[in-house]
Amino acid sequence: MNATPLSSSNQRKRFWIPTILFASTGLLALTAVPIYGFVYGYHWYQWLAFAIFGALCSFSIAAGNHRLWSHKSYEAHWSIRLLFILFSAAAMQNTTLNWCASHRYHHQFIDDNNRDPYSAGRGFWFSHIDWMMHEYPSSYLDYKNVKDLQRDQLVMWQHDNYVPIIIAMNLGLPIILGIITGDVLGMVLLAGVLRLVVNHHTTFMINSFGHLWGRRPYKGSISARDNAFLNLFVFGEGYHNYHHTFQIDYRSGIRWFQYDPTKWLIKSLSLVGLTYNLRVAPPIQVQKVKVEQLFKQAREKIEKIKDKESWQEILESEARGFAKLLKNWKSLQFLRHGEKHGQPPSEWELTSIQTKIQELEYGLKMQGKRLKILIGKIRPNEGAATP
Ligand SMILES: [Zn+2]
Ligand SMILES: [Zn+2]
Repeated sequence: MNATPLSSSNQRKRFWIPTILFASTGLLALTAVPIYGFVYGYHWYQWLAFAIFGALCSFSIAAGNHRLWSHKSYEAHWSIRLLFILFSAAAMQNTTLNWCASHRYHHQFIDDNNRDPYSAGRGFWFSHIDWMMHEYPSSYLDYKNVKDLQRDQLVMWQHDNYVPIIIAMNLGLPIILGIITGDVLGMVLLAGVLRLVVNHHTTFMINSFGHLWGRRPYKGSISARDNAFLNLFVFGEGYHNYHHTFQIDYRSGIRWFQYDPTKWLIKSLSLVGLTYNLRVAPPIQVQKVKVEQLFKQAREKIEKIKDKESWQEILESEARGFAKLLKNWKSLQFLRHGEKHGQPPSEWELTSIQTKIQELEYGLKMQGKRLKILIGKIRPNEGAATP
């Protein structure tokens, strides 16, 4: 992490538009929204509009700006892209082009305080919201990393017409819904203001909480964390350590039981042909990374105890097994791509290679299990701990 000396945010140039936006909507959400509720009450359909509008915004950020445009983890029909472009504008987190440019730099320069636009190294407040309200070395985008998106007509249409679109989505839509249902102010407060504030801070939590608290089962060297609790509020974006390790994957929670509504949405849309070319990280690669991380944890734990030798021996034997497995995997990859015999493998050979890779993947899974048990058995500071 970069150890650049930090000056306090109030010495920095302030960006007034986002500051006023966050402060005014936040203040209204804390005052006008509850006062109106106590005095006049809200109807169930206003809460329903709040929920549907909020979900559309969150999905448009998570499935649209994030997994579709920033990471290209799948492709989508124009109707879905149009929906995402409109509701990601409604979420008012800057244009899709700017959002993706910042996010790609966030991945590329993660934890580098001068280049990661919302580096967790500058602390909770910065990574949550202050990075948008004050000038920092990482504030300015050169758009070099979004040249592909500059060729996307929908992305550029939204970028060039951002102000009228956000006004239409954030005021126009709630006002129309209010006129239809007979209570304009109530609808504007719930489906407009409260929805926007909730959407802002839940997304921002991924950059703050998601980089400060949680587990790092895939990559311990970066601040991004898997946080199942945070995940409940962010439509499946909370498995952030996995995401930073395998950003091309359209999923964030890869296990069947992991709550990831964005993954379910993308997958469901693919069943009716509205999304396609869904990309996933190869399962064996995922297992490999997980095992490497467990080796690292085991080594760190062993370093802290007095009687290291017996544990080190076990670990070395596991490491030899791991190296052998990786070697086998490499030669299977050579075979699969026809690099070994100079010609592509037959259908049967491919099937055989595939099942052998699955065997190796299972082997890695079991090795991960052994390493977890081993880590659990090593008791730091107990001196003569034995296997
Ligand atoms: Zn990402
Ligand atoms: Zn991140």
